[in-house]
Amino acid sequence: MADGDRIVIVGAGVAGLRAAERLREQNFDGEIVLIGDEARRPYHRPMVSKALVMGTERPSDVGLSHYLPDLDVHWRLGARVTHLDTTERVVHLPGGESLWYDGLIAATGVYPRHLPGSPRHDPRVRILRTVEDSMAVRRCLHASKKPAVVIGAGLIGNEFAASMRHIGRDVTLVGHAKAPLHRFGDRVSSGIVEAHHEHRAKLAMKSEVRHWISTKDTVGLHLTNNQLLVASVVVLAIGSVPSVDWMRGSGLDISDGVLCDAKLFAEGASDVVIAGDIARWPNLRFDETPRRVEHWINAVESARHAADNLLMGHSSAKPFTPLPRAWSTLYDTRLQMCGMPSLAEDTVSLADGITGFIRDGRLVGISAWDKPRAMLDWMAELDRRLPAPDYVPEPEPAPEVPVAEPSVAALAADVPAEFDSGFDHQAFEREFESEFANDIPTTAFPAQSLPAPPTTAFAAQPGAALPTMAIPMGR
Ligand SMILES: Cc1cc2nc3c(=O)[nH]c(=O)nc-3n(C[C@H](O)[C@H](O)[C@H](O)COP(=O)(O)OP(=O)(O)OC[C@H]3O[C@@H](n4cnc5c(N)ncnc54)[C@H](O)[C@@H]3O)c2cc1C
Repeated sequence: MADGDRIVIVGAGVAGLRAAERLREQNFDGEIVLIGDEARRPYHRPMVSKALVMGTERPSDVGLSHYLPDLDVHWRLGARVTHLDTTERVVHLPGGESLWYDGLIAATGVYPRHLPGSPRHDPRVRILRTVEDSMAVRRCLHASKKPAVVIGAGLIGNEFAASMRHIGRDVTLVGHAKAPLHRFGDRVSSGIVEAHHEHRAKLAMKSEVRHWISTKDTVGLHLTNNQLLVASVVVLAIGSVPSVDWMRGSGLDISDGVLCDAKLFAEGASDVVIAGDIARWPNLRFDETPRRVEHWINAVESARHAADNLLMGHSSAKPFTPLPRAWSTLYDTRLQMCGMPSLAEDTVSLADGITGFIRDGRLVGISAWDKPRAMLDWMAELDRRLPAPDYVPEPEPAPEVPVAEPSVAALAADVPAEFDSGFDHQAFEREFESEFANDIPTTAFPAQSLPAPPTTAFAAQPGAALPTMAIPMGR
């Protein structure tokens, strides 16, 4: 790349960091500026609702390591980008500062949704997104021995409830769905209900908060099921909103994250790529509808792909067609998800503990409760049944913008089409997986033996036809 070229990355989370690494792996030798509004370097955000809030890891333990010895990045931490000007190719920072770019990678993630009516100024009503959030929750837990309450029965809500039981705190999980994690299918949902019962976490499902009562020492919640809860801390875990305000007025479509084409280029900007939780792109493995995916592995993979594509330039870039994968550790049990279960109309039991998600008679997703080995087989099967296509939909959405000065696209000339950096992707992914296997220490609960390999008692085995009887999804 020509001297003086600069790639600015906005968002110093996992996607921002992995994008920077990928640029260097691809021999980008220009300037990289990584801007993040948090004061600390990128860290394992999934630990916020697990080891950090339990206090089994300290903030200094959860930083993400570089995979390269010398990243040579210009860090701008504690700096919030306020505006983007795609015409002038400039990002604005507070105090009138602006930074020009030749290429921009946007990776600003999401922030937790606020619950209308909740006393947002009460210091005991908290969210869980950052290291500081988990420390604030711990301070509340120290200040009062009353139970914890979490509102929201998705992944973060369930993880927080499990974490509280892990450290011996009473906890109630409040959710308006009929069961926790019901989007992952009945098997996962009943598994987590059993696990909560076994560990004496309380559930208040099909209920919402009717009234909040803030007193000097505690927060009271009167639920629609008439229960009264008194809490030392209330965690709101009711979903998230993309952090895209800084792109308002830039001309980019930020209606739900940032609208991208299949190659992760922001629609209407050939020098802006999007990575991580904010990317809304059509994953052509499934269809041409742009969607976001809020999971760790997707943040890593999209960041690396976006970096490659930015260097190659839009015309040589490749569509991003991953098989989304996610996991969580609840108590000592591993929950795994693969594909796009949210697209399904029906579910089917594929094997003991493995649920298949079906759309138009096709398998589009899998979830597994405590079946890590069988899940590997089924992931391979899903990959076989949903091959990544090599077409790109017409018309090409990203318009060509004339490049007046040396640009990142020029790098394409230096990067062979099948560039092999010697990087072992599988080893890389295994490393991620193993890091998360350790999120919740195994000492407080008896370690479970590894699950048995898939049994033959079920109609469906990888490679075989799916069972014909579909079970309606419990939405
Ligand atoms: C509590 C919790 C637990 C989770 N557990 C799991 C799990 O078990 N498994 C799993 O697969 N996924 C999990 N996730 C999701 C996973 O952490 C995310 O998918 C991943 O972190 C997304 O990475 P990202 O880089 O896109 O965004 P982020 O990690 O959110 O990083 C974005 C960064 O950009 C910063 N930023 C935002 N706006 C600006 C701006 N204008 N200027 C500068 N900086 C800005 C943000 O503050 C943040 O530091 C969890 C998430 C949370 C919050």
